[in-house]
Amino acid sequence: MSSLLEQAYSSSTFRELGHQLVDQLADYLEAAEKGHQAVIPQIDPQNELRFWEKDLVEGPRDPVYFFEQLINRSIHLHQQKYMGHQIAPPAYLGPLAALAGDLLNNGMAVFEMGAASTAIEQVVVQEVCKVMGYDELAGGFLTSGGTLANLTALLAARQAIGERDVWTEGQQEKLAIMVSEESHYCVDRAVRIMGWGEQGIIKVPVNAQYQLRTDLLEEGLRKAEAAGRKVIALVGCACSTSTGAYDDLEAMADFCAQHQLWFHVDGAHGAAAAFSSRYRPLVKGIGRADSIAMDFHKMLMTPALATALLFKKGQQAFGTFAQRAQYLWASQSEQEWHNLAKRTFECTKYMMSIKVYILLRSYGLTVFDEYVNRLYDMGRHFAQLIQQRPHFELAVTPQSNIVCFRYTPPNCSPEQLDLLNSRIRKNIIEEGEFYIVQTQLKQGLYLRTTLMNPFTTEQELLGLLDKVEALAR
Ligand SMILES: *Cc1c(COP(=O)(O)O)cnc(C)c1O
Repeated sequence: MSSLLEQAYSSSTFRELGHQLVDQLADYLEAAEKGHQAVIPQIDPQNELRFWEKDLVEGPRDPVYFFEQLINRSIHLHQQKYMGHQIAPPAYLGPLAALAGDLLNNGMAVFEMGAASTAIEQVVVQEVCKVMGYDELAGGFLTSGGTLANLTALLAARQAIGERDVWTEGQQEKLAIMVSEESHYCVDRAVRIMGWGEQGIIKVPVNAQYQLRTDLLEEGLRKAEAAGRKVIALVGCACSTSTGAYDDLEAMADFCAQHQLWFHVDGAHGAAAAFSSRYRPLVKGIGRADSIAMDFHKMLMTPALATALLFKKGQQAFGTFAQRAQYLWASQSEQEWHNLAKRTFECTKYMMSIKVYILLRSYGLTVFDEYVNRLYDMGRHFAQLIQQRPHFELAVTPQSNIVCFRYTPPNCSPEQLDLLNSRIRKNIIEEGEFYIVQTQLKQGLYLRTTLMNPFTTEQELLGLLDKVEALAR
């Protein structure tokens, strides 16, 4: 009988279980392609907790059993009726690369702890910089999610634009940023983490298409100054999370140039439009941004987390955490691309570059072009289907694959409409056949879909509308 440690590190067990797991996952994918299971198994947190508490004590020890339960009890992104949050059903090479990455477990903070994956990260960053329209001065790195990328970008902006060295002296000036009122909550959170408080974020109203009103930027800036706040940055949404609206990046870049502001683009979801031959105009002006955050795990087919943070002047990323860490690297002042922790928030970091790179080297940039086109086209088509139905109302003509709509039977008060649509959404996820979410907009509560699966067809889209109709009755 071998020791537990020997069992835990047995390569023959790894081989055997690995093959079994791949077979299990492939069976699961085949079933998902045929639409055989519910998209979302069940939604009662207490129930789920009880199941796993019991499993830990008395479930069969067999890992195959565990994986089966895990698969069955998870939400299924590869189903055509998954239309909820903005996470990609990953293309299959990504998860395979992730398996290799998890096993190799290179730490990434310094070059020796991830030679291949660090160089691969540099290659990925260079490719994406070109797509964004940046020149050879640009640079960047990969980081753990859009939330952390946005915070890191704003920290870099503070170091680059603020008059004092905050990193050394602490926060002395009263600073602020401006952003659309529709921005993701993580931008607000970043500002508060930096200690600027509620007054540190100036939310600019949006127009009827939910895009930042650039005609109000001057006024926002003047008000901030009158209140003793120095605005250092403007953040553009490309696109916004709740309705998928793209801000006018070109006009915002002009404004930043005029007022010497840092221009950051939160492109967590929609900067991927830059990869699309058809939808590239949506991000016109993005190449003028000082920094861009973009998630690969949303519109670029990659398992989470994998996010790019790119800088127009790559060297500016070295100012963010200008800090000594003598055990990691000999010299702080050298701007080495290959010691990543000089620029990243993370010390140990997952080998995320390989999940993107394997797609790039296998399919080229074209696969991203196809993915974005397919889903953004689908968003437009779905909007038409919605408009053709009586008693359905679109929140806004979609610019992306995020489509918000509601069911509006006649003679309903605004409160009744909210109640009805919220009940419809609740019934939908309780049934589990479809997965959609909801969002609170100015006009009321809307059902929100993000079309993430490129194999969703008109049949599923019509099926969802039928379901909404049936539940409304
Ligand atoms: C999803 C999203 C984020 C957050 O990104 P994570 O990768 O989930 O941390 C930020 N901004 C926008 C616009 C988003 O859509």
